[in-house]
Amino acid sequence: MDLEELYKKALDLLPLTVEEGTFLYRKAPLQELIFIGDKIRQLHIQGNKVGWMIDRNVNITNICFSQCSFCNFCRKKGSPDAYITSISEYVKKIDELTALGGDQLLLQGGMNPDLGMEFYTGLFRKLKELYPALKLHALGPPEIVYLSKKEKLPYSEVLANLIAAGLDSLPGAGAEILSDRVRKIVSPAKATTTEWLDVMREAHRLNLPTSATMMYGHIETIKERIEHLARLRALQEEKPEGHHGFITFVPWAFQDEGTVLSLKHGINSSYSGPDYIRLIALSRIMLNNIRNLQASLLTVGREVAMLSLHAGANDLGSIMMEENVVSAAGANNRFNSDEIQEIIREAGFNPVRRNQKYDPFYS
Ligand code: SF4
Repeated sequence: MDLEELYKKALDLLPLTVEEGTFLYRKAPLQELIFIGDKIRQLHIQGNKVGWMIDRNVNITNICFSQCSFCNFCRKKGSPDAYITSISEYVKKIDELTALGGDQLLLQGGMNPDLGMEFYTGLFRKLKELYPALKLHALGPPEIVYLSKKEKLPYSEVLANLIAAGLDSLPGAGAEILSDRVRKIVSPAKATTTEWLDVMREAHRLNLPTSATMMYGHIETIKERIEHLARLRALQEEKPEGHHGFITFVPWAFQDEGTVLSLKHGINSSYSGPDYIRLIALSRIMLNNIRNLQASLLTVGREVAMLSLHAGANDLGSIMMEENVVSAAGANNRFNSDEIQEIIREAGFNPVRRNQKYDPFYS
């Protein structure tokens, strides 16, 4: 394979094969990948815009039967510190969010076997009744699969019920690495690769905005990272014309502190700044049909996030009030609104506050 030919193919926005992407990941000099990633960003995004937003992560419950080996957040039913967030706690947290100018809740949490469709639709309806302008970016494919099995309903019906109750967009949570070899080891009780993709296919059919993620840097191979990207790209290709599909892609590194994967299996995070930049550039190259690429400021910190913006990323995500899942495993980079904008400016870009649909990037 020839590097120059692959760069040309990437710059023509043609889909690279898994073998070609893996070759680039392994062989291309980092500075050349940064150059190509940046050129492709410019084909997707006019001007010097870099997005950011304000939202708040509230965990619905920390009770989860899944017990993923990279998760420090979940608790078994009956644990002394197990909880289900009450409406009065939501009210307090949403009031704090709106005081900062935010209007979106990222609602995530464990798969609590006691909570079914009635609970989630009731919760969404109540929150919308109390705060009609609030946006709910909530749950993720594993919860949809779980609700589908629990309620014996197809994914389309689960999603339609949640949308009717107030769901505005579906996070790409629980993708980890879309490889069943990997999933059987790190998250065996969670949605399979096919289930994760099937839920997203239905969400795209219903025109529910979605995002895609990758949690890498544990037991996966480079080829499996590239296969993950190719699977997302293939699904995006299937979305009905004019529908939202995957609005953005966000890769973040495994945070190992205190996790079962690290303590019991000796698997520590393979994260490094240069490798993250390489992954950002490769994501830009492989995902020729997903317009936005977000660097995970929360997990990589200021310097690597700034470099990511020069390697193809066009977004630094949210200031994320109260993130609990990756923070529980060692991600401690916190920034306020002024700081995130200052980071973007320092990197040479113009900060643009956006919403979950990436308006005004589409205006
Ligand atoms: S990562 Fe999510 S699904 Fe897995 S154990 Fe933690 S809360 Fe449960």
